Amino acid sequence: MCIKADYLWHGAREREKLLENNCHDLVAGVFRWRKVVNMRIAVVGSGYVGLVAGACFAELGHQVILVDNDPAKYEALDRGECPIHEEYLPELLARNRGTNLSFSNNLPDAVRCSQAVFIAVGTPQAENGEADLSYVESVAREIASAVDDYKVIVGKSTVPVYTSDWVKKVMLLNGAPHGLFDVASNPEFLREGTGVTDFLYPDRIVIGADNERCGNMLREIYKPMVEGEYYEKGDSIVPPPPEWPGKAQLICTSARSAELIKHASNAFLAMKISFINAVANVCEAVGADIEQVREGMGTDQRIGKRFLYPGIGYGGSCFPKDLSAFRVVAREYGYEFKLLQEVMNINAEQRRKFVRKVRAALWTLRGKQLGVLGLAFKGGTDDIRESPAIAIIQDLLAEGCKVAAHDPAAMKRAAEVLPAQSVKMVSSPYEAAENADALLILTEWQDYKGLDLARIRSLLRYPIIIDGRNLYEPAIMQQHGFIYLSVGRPDVVPKEEAMKFRTAQG
Ligand code: NAD
Repeated sequence: MCIKADYLWHGAREREKLLENNCHDLVAGVFRWRKVVNMRIAVVGSGYVGLVAGACFAELGHQVILVDNDPAKYEALDRGECPIHEEYLPELLARNRGTNLSFSNNLPDAVRCSQAVFIAVGTPQAENGEADLSYVESVAREIASAVDDYKVIVGKSTVPVYTSDWVKKVMLLNGAPHGLFDVASNPEFLREGTGVTDFLYPDRIVIGADNERCGNMLREIYKPMVEGEYYEKGDSIVPPPPEWPGKAQLICTSARSAELIKHASNAFLAMKISFINAVANVCEAVGADIEQVREGMGTDQRIGKRFLYPGIGYGGSCFPKDLSAFRVVAREYGYEFKLLQEVMNINAEQRRKFVRKVRAALWTLRGKQLGVLGLAFKGGTDDIRESPAIAIIQDLLAEGCKVAAHDPAAMKRAAEVLPAQSVKMVSSPYEAAENADALLILTEWQDYKGLDLARIRSLLRYPIIIDGRNLYEPAIMQQHGFIYLSVGRPDVVPKEEAMKFRTAQG
């Protein structure tokens, strides 16, 4: 057993010893509610999902080892750093590090120490559109060699249906003893930016287990949330969302259904975004206002207002690749899911449409200086994977623009993919606006909602704001004298600017 793990499991062993000696009262006092749960868990992959899941499992009272094979990430975690931007995560790591939570780059060791092993590695898109499951397979092989007593291997990564079956086969082929392990699916629904809150206060927890033994182990892990003990304690540093019912809902399914629930949920959410973007385009064509249409549609409880925000389309490390993988796997099993292709087409068109809007406002783009607010694929995260903001900036650079960009969290990551000679990272939204021919809003950060508009106007060379996230009320922008173009709403062109603007639009 590794030294760290030995230290980590010390508490659990002490408890077992006390129980053997019938010191139940002492155990109840010392270990309080933790005595009921306290599972030993390894989480493989310390990225946006694994790190949040591991920290939250530790917060629930479990003994967790987080494993990653990226030396930079592992060393940063081991030094006490938090390598990603996620609300409440630094606090959870600080609170549990060294007691319930440790870090390792030794997967077999972590497996031997654990009862449940969660796989939370990446499942990126392969060239042919399907999910690249090579990271999952390589982890499964490594786990197989370390299975020495009964373990549940849990798929947390988003994967196509049948992946649990494949993981089981790979493990058997690589020497894991038959009967000493089960494979389950426990898809993750957290959203980056609110990942910790989503994990600890979920809409639902889905457990896909094909036999009772492994189902029970997963139920035990989530028990503090499902029975509500964790919330009753009242010492969480993560406040509940409004209208939290007090207990998490558990849905138990087969492993295949659980895998499908995740793909189908992401596909449906992406469809909602593309649907409202398509309606926004109709609004622009007929002079209607998408915000009024959204309000009118969303109040129908069958539809709901959430996830009906028009903009420059979805991005991130999940929706694009999950839609593509879902389409491929459906086709593989004989169903041509054409709707998904259309969802992707609308999404791609939404970005092109935004670039056309910039061009229409500025006439030519070569040599234009643009201020950009937002680089992350959504507000609240530093993740720029498949960010529509980055894609739009790259298109504008290809047209010869220069950019001054700001983002509260993602500038460091964005600087790694954008050319420094034409994109300057600046330290405030006001610096981005300085001498710009137009200001573009590309990510829905709350920070951008309350800007000093008079100051922005005085800094811009031309008073043009093109808002890809509808962060501002057109009437307010009108009062401040901006030409304001947003998504699915009539353009704002103040009288004194109208003449120049119409000329520019041709
Ligand atoms: P990520 O890239 O941030 O993290 C994956 C981590 O796994 C990396 O740190 C990588 O170094 C590590 N890793 C890869 N191979 C490894 C190995 N052999 N051993 C140990 N570590 C290894 O990815 P993510 O965003 O956390 O996503 C992980 C999975 O969860 C994906 O399937 C994704 O679709 C799914 N998911 C993501 C989100 C999200 O919002 N990011 C939400 C729900 C589900």
